[in-house]
Amino acid sequence: MTHASASIRAAVQDLQGSRIRDVANAGLGRSDVLAFWFGESDEVTPDVVRQSAIDSMTQGETFYAHNLGLPALREAIAAYMQGLHGGQIDAGRIAVTSGGVNALMLAFQTLVNAGDEVLAVTPVWPNLTAQPAIMGARVRTLSLVPGPQGWQLDMAALREAVTPATRVLVLNAPNNPTGWTLGREEQAAILAHCRQTGTWILADEVYERLFYDGPSPGQDAAPSFLDLAQPEDRLIVVHSFSKSFLMTGWRLGWMVLPPSLTEAVGKLIEFNTSCAPVFVQRAGITALAHSAQITPRVVQHLKTCRDTLVPLLQAVPGVQVAPAPGGMYAFFRLEGHPDGVQTAKRLVTEAGLGLAPGEAFAPEAAGWLRWCFASRDLQRLHEGVRRLRVWLGHGT
Ligand code: PLP
Repeated sequence: MTHASASIRAAVQDLQGSRIRDVANAGLGRSDVLAFWFGESDEVTPDVVRQSAIDSMTQGETFYAHNLGLPALREAIAAYMQGLHGGQIDAGRIAVTSGGVNALMLAFQTLVNAGDEVLAVTPVWPNLTAQPAIMGARVRTLSLVPGPQGWQLDMAALREAVTPATRVLVLNAPNNPTGWTLGREEQAAILAHCRQTGTWILADEVYERLFYDGPSPGQDAAPSFLDLAQPEDRLIVVHSFSKSFLMTGWRLGWMVLPPSLTEAVGKLIEFNTSCAPVFVQRAGITALAHSAQITPRVVQHLKTCRDTLVPLLQAVPGVQVAPAPGGMYAFFRLEGHPDGVQTAKRLVTEAGLGLAPGEAFAPEAAGWLRWCFASRDLQRLHEGVRRLRVWLGHGT
């Protein structure tokens, strides 16, 4: 008898397992590995946020909620987004989701028919290409171009790649893993082009607050499509509490939608998760109420982490790395080490250093390595670079 798995959908069968997980498995059983491979801070969620979830549970808020989220949370998100991006974002455009990843899946479910073309700018977090593939899309990619200042978008190539046949353009900026961040003019040009081709823009802006090169890091945000678009433009923006509020494990995110889409997305939420848990949503309300304290502190610290790690890496012979304007990663290449998976596995077993291989994010990032610099203790970053140096034969 053949295995039942032989008859599951090809799109699911073809999904690639996590390359980061492959590398992490090489270090199983070792307690001395300094792990920088996952995309999260090692700092726990602020007390005030945790306490509000505890209070909610104590009060017995253990029931289903509205598909689109608690009205108070949708209002709070709208006010927060208006504060960052201006006045056209009301609660009627907000859908609360179970993390950014669920928001992305809902967006693809809303937009993508089997066989539709989805174009993703890469390297990118693998979910952004796997999720449309699960929906049966034909996923094409357009690669950023690496250079001494980091990875850049070739606008002419983008204009050529996005045609009337392109149903969705997927952009993640600030980008995981490269740190590439879209500029305002690029966004305006992309929006104008997509209006002409009738293409949806799916903008993953979960790292927008983790932006270090703006006028006041921590207070502001990276350029957003929301600053430019009209409410009924074909634009969905995905957000998360994970990164800027230290809430990865809570699974809370949101979408900013054209007003005419909100009802349909509410129906889809019913069939996916029904709603985000109420006590988690209460924590979200509290996080937003304290955002002026929480996020600037988080961002200032991440900036210090970036400004600690990148110069240390730049001083290692054979390392090519540029400071990322946004995100929480240093993405770098090691001369003479073209296979990132192999290098990352060796670094785990031989040096006790846990990094993610570029191959997890795109074939064109083969040989690159991603280092999540969100470390509470800066000494861990120093020690990590020391281990890399020793492994390369450049120190003790
Ligand atoms: N988008 C990008 C680019 C990410 O890197 C991540 C998480 O690493 C997410 C979305 C989703 O985050 P979450 O599901 O924790 O909100």
